[in-house]
Amino acid sequence: MSGLKQYFKDSWEGIWTVLVGMKITFKHLFVPNVTIQYPSVRVPMPERVRNRLYVNMDDCIGCDQCSRACPVSCISIDTVKSLPSEDLGVTSNGKKKALWVTKFDIDFAKCCYCQLCVFPCPTECIYMTDVYEFSEYERGKLLYNFSTLTPEQAAEKKANLEKFNAEKEALKAAAAAEAAAKPKIEKPQDKTE
Ligand code: SF4
Ligand code: SF4
Repeated sequence: MSGLKQYFKDSWEGIWTVLVGMKITFKHLFVPNVTIQYPSVRVPMPERVRNRLYVNMDDCIGCDQCSRACPVSCISIDTVKSLPSEDLGVTSNGKKKALWVTKFDIDFAKCCYCQLCVFPCPTECIYMTDVYEFSEYERGKLLYNFSTLTPEQAAEKKANLEKFNAEKEALKAAAAAEAAAKPKIEKPQDKTE
């Protein structure tokens, strides 16, 4: 083969290889994009999407039903009974609040987003949101604390209840002691006998 013929053959092979390689690229120049410029553009989440949970503590009555429904035990709740002098108000669906929720933790490192905690809630205050970007470098940061009370306030509520119960018990014991100290009044004899 002459040198010129070989030159044209090699050139044509080069052009053909580029055309084959660019075939898919050319095809996609004329179809709509399927990719988006994330994170500046985001796909809207479907209505029933299951992502990070949220708890509206204003409506939480501390009933523990969500925690008992959780298959992986990632919800941890502590409550303290309110004192008769304390009025905690009612939830938005009219349920009376009687417990201080001193701890309401959800460990999202364990959560499997099954949504089983959402259904039994009597006040619908625990629900799935569309928030899906909440990864962390440390697992501990996935432990979310929803309680609105500080640890000091929680300790104070517990101490108040313990004091109230102790005073109640002391009053009960004093009343029992007073009753025991009173002289017994004999029942009058029945004269018809
Ligand atoms: S979504 Fe499932 S795993 Fe997560 S807290 Fe609720 S019940 Fe537990
Ligand atoms: S089921 Fe609802 S009201 Fe009961 S503790 Fe859980 S979030 Fe609170």
